[in-house]
Amino acid sequence: MTTALVMMVTALAAPWLTRAERTGFVETSRYEETLQDCRRLEKDSTWIKVTSFGRSPEGRDLILVIASKDRAFDPDAARRTGKPVVLIQAGIHAGEIDGKDAGLMLLRDISVSKRHAALLERAIILFMPIYNVDGHERFGAFNRINQDGPKEQGWRVTSRNLNLNRDYMKADAVETRAWLKLFTSWWPDLLIDCHVTDGADYRYDVTYFAETGPNAPPSVAAWIKSAVEDHAMPALDASGHLSSPFIFLKDDADPAAGRVSFPPTPRFSTSYAALQNRPSFLIETHMLKDYRTRVIGTYDTLRVLLEEVNRDADALKEAVKLADARAARPGTVPLVFRTTDRAGKVTFHGVAYRRELSEISGTVRIVYGSEPLDLEVDRSDEIEPVVSVEKPSAYIVPPQWTEAIDVLKAHGVRLLRLKEPVTGAFDGYRLTEPSWQAAPFEGRHMVTFKTERIKAEQRAYPAGSVVVPTDQRTSPVAVHLLEPQGPDSFVAWGFFDAIFEQKEYAEAYVMEKLSREMLAKDPGLRAEFEKALADPAFSSSPARRLDFFYRRSPWWDNRIGLYPVGLVMSPREFPAEPVP
Ligand SMILES: [Zn+2]
Repeated sequence: MTTALVMMVTALAAPWLTRAERTGFVETSRYEETLQDCRRLEKDSTWIKVTSFGRSPEGRDLILVIASKDRAFDPDAARRTGKPVVLIQAGIHAGEIDGKDAGLMLLRDISVSKRHAALLERAIILFMPIYNVDGHERFGAFNRINQDGPKEQGWRVTSRNLNLNRDYMKADAVETRAWLKLFTSWWPDLLIDCHVTDGADYRYDVTYFAETGPNAPPSVAAWIKSAVEDHAMPALDASGHLSSPFIFLKDDADPAAGRVSFPPTPRFSTSYAALQNRPSFLIETHMLKDYRTRVIGTYDTLRVLLEEVNRDADALKEAVKLADARAARPGTVPLVFRTTDRAGKVTFHGVAYRRELSEISGTVRIVYGSEPLDLEVDRSDEIEPVVSVEKPSAYIVPPQWTEAIDVLKAHGVRLLRLKEPVTGAFDGYRLTEPSWQAAPFEGRHMVTFKTERIKAEQRAYPAGSVVVPTDQRTSPVAVHLLEPQGPDSFVAWGFFDAIFEQKEYAEAYVMEKLSREMLAKDPGLRAEFEKALADPAFSSSPARRLDFFYRRSPWWDNRIGLYPVGLVMSPREFPAEPVP
């Protein structure tokens, strides 16, 4: 065909093209043009509505495209259709922007050319073309050093330098708060998060992660095993792609050393979805493939996942319903995980490489070639819980801890407020030996500590305290936030840092006098003191020697390190009303 004829046929088949398509996948659209593309979808199809789910700190609308054959453009209308809602988000890391172009193309092919109209038969699609909009407009050619195209793209993190894919639990970012509002009003049945890898070179064009380990509810894990592993991914490979579960090498400079998986933490979108009883799917196209290959890889991955949702929409709805019901029941919640030592063998479709000593780094470097190379390698991907907790019947948070209460609310956790004070026996925690990270991580200095369980302590909680019942579907999120040992707990992220501070201090001459009186009264104390003096670090520190007595005196503040949140271990009625 002549070029003119090809263009005419293309124009007939597809009413309009994205900037990526028009430029031969050299360029990607800026924010304004992306918004225009979304508006064009809305104009060309009655199945599309474009809306905003919030505003970024720099004042941009957070674009949401809703696709529904029933024009079910709000959560209630969507629920009435009984169809699963699939949330597809692109550009949480705005430099990894394949999902924006793939999603726009796919929605056009669903709703305008209608080539893939069947994908909307038994599904409603929510599409965020650019989640991190401010980061996306930090546009440039030098934002993704490891990545092959597009020519220019956005930046990984927000205008406040926060990584939205570490913010799911602490919810510091304005964008996260908007996302949570969207999520907890629509309660999508499946979350798909589009990224581009960093890491090694290999032949796979699409890598992915979907949680099936102990962090995922059993019904959700079973759905993923069937829908993703048995159907969608084989269909993707059959359509000309080479896919693999997400690849981390044990040794960055030697693929033969094998592959490893990392334990889940809910600061990431995928593990967060699991706590909200939802399956999720992480697409990581391979950074070293060109932009066309990656966008088409993302497009086809979205297509096969949506085909699978449509093939058995009831299976997805049922898995989510069972998971919601399970989350509202008593039971244990695993908090901390590790990768076991057990490894299976897997064929790694890599490329030829050599290892040699580098005069630049002074260590062994890897030099990748282009010839295919298949390796039989170990893959350690078995995850097991190392810390689990029994869900209390409720938590109780004193009213002054407003930031924590706000975050619980943002996650859609149902809260009650005490109308009058309550007293009784509560479990709790004392946290000792705190140690803060010196460098900030995501704008905070995370803290580690030791945890001592307190059993049935008499406590009083004032009116206004917030009760967090665990007989609700968001209870896994509440447990992860409120149990201090959770990797993304309030305490870990520093919401309760002030409890570790000593606020009254004894003058040395006051302690000198008091110490002598204490020693005179208590012969056992003298023995204990003398034992402590055997440690040179102690005996050479006047402050520690005096502190020894201060800590044993009635003046010592026994609330230091006392976690103020109470655990209600057996069901009890509270004089409380719902927090609106
Ligand atoms: Zn990413």
